[in-house]
Amino acid sequence: MTVSKKDTTVLQNFINGEWVNSNCIQTLVVPNPATNALLTKVPMSTKEDVDLAVSAAKAALKEWKNVPVPKRARILFKYHHLLTENHEELARLIVLENGKAYKEAYGEVQRGIECVEFASGAPTLLMGESLSGIAEDIDSEMFRYPVGVVGGITPFNFPMMVPLWMFPLAIACGNTFVLKPSERTPILANRLAELFAEAGAPKGVLNVVHGAHDVVNGLLDHKDIAAISFVGSQPVAKYVYQRAAAEGKRVQALSGAKNHHIVMPDADMDKAVQNIISSTFGSAGQRCMACSAVVVVGDNEPFVAALKKKADELIIGNGMDEEVLLTPIIRKEHREKVLGYIEKGLEEGADLIRDGRREMDELPEGNFLGPTIFDHVTPEMTIAKEELFAPVLSLLRANDLDEGLDYIRKSKFGNGATIYTNNAKAIRQFREEAEAGMLGINVGVPATMAFFPFSGWKDSFYGDMHVNGKDGVNFYTRKKMITSRFD
Ligand code: NAD
Repeated sequence: MTVSKKDTTVLQNFINGEWVNSNCIQTLVVPNPATNALLTKVPMSTKEDVDLAVSAAKAALKEWKNVPVPKRARILFKYHHLLTENHEELARLIVLENGKAYKEAYGEVQRGIECVEFASGAPTLLMGESLSGIAEDIDSEMFRYPVGVVGGITPFNFPMMVPLWMFPLAIACGNTFVLKPSERTPILANRLAELFAEAGAPKGVLNVVHGAHDVVNGLLDHKDIAAISFVGSQPVAKYVYQRAAAEGKRVQALSGAKNHHIVMPDADMDKAVQNIISSTFGSAGQRCMACSAVVVVGDNEPFVAALKKKADELIIGNGMDEEVLLTPIIRKEHREKVLGYIEKGLEEGADLIRDGRREMDELPEGNFLGPTIFDHVTPEMTIAKEELFAPVLSLLRANDLDEGLDYIRKSKFGNGATIYTNNAKAIRQFREEAEAGMLGINVGVPATMAFFPFSGWKDSFYGDMHVNGKDGVNFYTRKKMITSRFD
């Protein structure tokens, strides 16, 4: 679609403290996933737009890096206040553009606010180290400095939390930032930038450039970008990591997932079912910490029957409706891809014990798919290996915990894994041997809080330092060692 400069329904970029039109010739429509009604259009910004944003960030860096750390923190405190004041409005925006249930969106806003809370501790977080007397009359000190201009590229599934994993901490560390939000959920990013400016962030410190591949490549290749924070799907994460690292940039690229939940025979079955249902079907399975494969240890038909019964009872619909748990998939095209995976599961011999396709006709406007469960899935099947990012669950059968852990080991992903049991020995074995970065013991979505790193393993993460926690501070700072002689 060609853009007319007068088209006020196209979102603007935020560059150097101003709302500006992209000089693009194309836009994408942004529909509400629950109704497919048009919300807005997003510009497919160009490399020239990226250049403008990076120049603004580079110019702002000169002063921002010298702003005293407590003064930077005060802006974050104010931002925290504004986000809290607008909590409900932000949650509603998330429901509108992403489709998830209001309660989950409200929780996401809270998670985002907690990242700002963490970054507000900058004066403590940025403290260096010192040792008096590394040799006779000689002392050493370590100070932290910003890395420069940081580029952030984010996915559709957490339009608030993921950008807030990145820019508040990066900026608290003295960097300036160019954010490229998902083109499928671009609206909230503008509100985040608006509130950040209202909190007192100087112009150019945070910039937002909307678009897709051209903007991403523009950031990856730009000589004035020092570091890239990326969150998204696995092939793109690997591409981003390789391309930016080849340019000598610091990169953290958080990627896809296939999270296994092991149900041991001694588990509290009611709680396991409840946790698995909300982990698998909440946000329509579009969470990097969603359960997507359950390993049933031993012969446990009552558990499988209870899981299916609960799935049958799920209320499907628009996320603004309070009782709804199962909300739409982000786009019709993604649902088509998922339907292909369901066919593949059948072809490869898995038992479809609950077919969510039957609910599609009941809600024709949105991109809905009912809860779908395959049983007797084996680790070699496509649906067991790939990330589907949908309300589709695979049940794998295992004789014992060793076999369950082996399934996790065979997965190329290693974001999260959970065990349901009260057996201390099984818990310890799981903790020691499960090859994933975030483990849950009787917890359905084992995502920790902003003061700890968010840490996937294997193909779920490319880079060295994860987001959040001390890793985040290390990623966004460079260290300088000063050694002084006093004799
Ligand atoms: P995506 O990879 O399609 O998009 C992510 C970002 O990359 C977007 O900003 C998009 O514009 C850009 N992009 C997409 N394709 C590109 C290409 N070919 N070249 C350059 N840029 C490109 O991901 P998504 O569908 O928006 O998000 C869902 C994915 O994100 C899932 O795989 C999920 O597991 C992952 N995710 C991971 C975490 C984590 O912590 N590991 C957290 C959230 C989401």
